[in-house]
Amino acid sequence: MPSGAYTGTTTVPDSTHPNGETCVFLRPEDRYCAIQVACLANNMPAWELKPYYCCLFPLVDEWDGVQRTLLLDEGNDLFERGGSCAEPAPEPQPLIQVYAEEVSLALGLEGYRQVCERVGLTPRL
Ligand code: SF4
Repeated sequence: MPSGAYTGTTTVPDSTHPNGETCVFLRPEDRYCAIQVACLANNMPAWELKPYYCCLFPLVDEWDGVQRTLLLDEGNDLFERGGSCAEPAPEPQPLIQVYAEEVSLALGLEGYRQVCERVGLTPRL
């Protein structure tokens, strides 16, 4: 953080949310992320100030002390409740294409392209 001061995202009670709580940065009026809205309002890239793990979601970047693994978090509440990002697509796409931006954030654009090349896909970024 440029200021050197930060706090992790935390939750606040929200009786209108299925979990009974929401992230403190979720705007109640439209359910948009206030951090992302602030970025866009200031002509910054949408993910410039958002926490890394929020930008990656529903991918998770796990580190076991030896290696990093990029995984799809399939066991989250959003998927289990049938969130719109989990709906079947008219034309199914490989996950690495659906989440190309997220994979590029985790692996770098070159990393994303290398993975596409290894599995025989044309990168969309
Ligand atoms: S993207 Fe992250 S910081 Fe923004 S509202 Fe969601 S959980 Fe909170």
